[in-house]
Amino acid sequence: MNEKILLIEDEEALLMTLSDRLESEGYVVECARDGLTGYERATADPTDLIILDLMLPKKNGFDVCREIRQAGLITPILMLTARGQVVDKVVGLKIGADDYVTKPFDMMELMARIEALLRRAPSRPGNDGMFEFGSIRVDLRGTEVFRNGKPVPLSAREFQLLRYFIENRGVTLSREDILKDVWGYSAHTFTRTVDVHVASLRQKLEKDPKQPALILTVQGLGYKFAA
Ligand code: CA
Repeated sequence: MNEKILLIEDEEALLMTLSDRLESEGYVVECARDGLTGYERATADPTDLIILDLMLPKKNGFDVCREIRQAGLITPILMLTARGQVVDKVVGLKIGADDYVTKPFDMMELMARIEALLRRAPSRPGNDGMFEFGSIRVDLRGTEVFRNGKPVPLSAREFQLLRYFIENRGVTLSREDILKDVWGYSAHTFTRTVDVHVASLRQKLEKDPKQPALILTVQGLGYKFAA
């Protein structure tokens, strides 16, 4: 099936040029002309990639990006920034964009970046909600986990925690963040709860729970999911 790209851009000329080019490369293109519509399209019907302009009417690219991630979507996001917005690029990557291209850009370069992002696709859940790493297979919709094809029994909270790690893979997460986002409350005295559940997940998923390769401890900061 052809890969689907959501293009969020308010400059009509660029929108047309880009969507024509993407379609000629075999992609299915959906367009949104402002940030609000873009966010709604992105969350209503997830695509394989999102190209997101920074300066947009109604909702800027940063907010769209942040809210897409908060909604739990891990669709690769390629940001379009104007020349010289160096600080913006850094912020963009911090809030969950995967790559950025500076306007005016070379079309060949943009296509190469898109391909590169889509090639990383096996590490994100497909449209079927499956996520695989090593011998582990996670069914995000069916809330089931398999290891070497055998079901791994997880508690509801363990599954939520694993889902949270998957959605934030590569990001260092403090115990306080995890507690707030997975348990829904923040209290420093309860951070031990996070450690207990991480230990349990490691026991069930890591090849060697004593030398974790999936859920890494970041000294003094928290945890990072490395799949
Ligand atoms: Ca714009």
